[in-house]
Amino acid sequence: MICELCGTEFPKTKRVIIEGTALNVCSNCAKFGTPVTKEQARKESPVLQRLERKRYRPRDIYEREVDILVRDFSTRIREARMRMDISQEEFGKQLNEKWSVINKLETGDLRPDDKLVTKLERALGITLREKLKPTEVEKKTAGKALTIGDLIREANE
Ligand SMILES: [Zn+2]
Repeated sequence: MICELCGTEFPKTKRVIIEGTALNVCSNCAKFGTPVTKEQARKESPVLQRLERKRYRPRDIYEREVDILVRDFSTRIREARMRMDISQEEFGKQLNEKWSVINKLETGDLRPDDKLVTKLERALGITLREKLKPTEVEKKTAGKALTIGDLIREANE
C-alpha cells in the first residue's frame, strides 16, 4: 500500500485523521494524525473520502514545526562534556555507551538517534534540537533533497 502523505510504499497503512481529513498513511506519518475511531469509519463513504482528499492541502503539513537535530551537535556535546570536566570514557560509562560512540558524536561522524539525543540532553543539560518549519529546514539543508519522510524521522519522538 502507498502512504497518502509521503508516498512511500508500505506493507501496511493506518487510517488516521490529519487536519480533519482521513488518510491511509504509513506508521511514520501516522504520528501526524489521530487514529480514526470506529464511529468515524462508519460515517465515511467513498464519496466523502474523495471530497476530503480534494480538500486536503499538503501545504498545511509543510508549515508544521518539526524538531531537528542542531547542526553543531558535536560541538555542543563536546563543550558540555568538557564543562562537566569528564573524559569521553567517563561520559560514555555514565550514558551506558561505548567510548567510541561518544568520540564519533563529538567528531560529527555519528548522528545520534532520538533516544540518544534525549539521553545526551539530560546528561549534559543542553539542547540538541531546534524547532523549525519544514520550509526553513529546506533552506538550512540547501541542496539536499529532504522528503517529508525524513522530516518525520527527524521529528520522531
Ligand atoms: Zn508516510
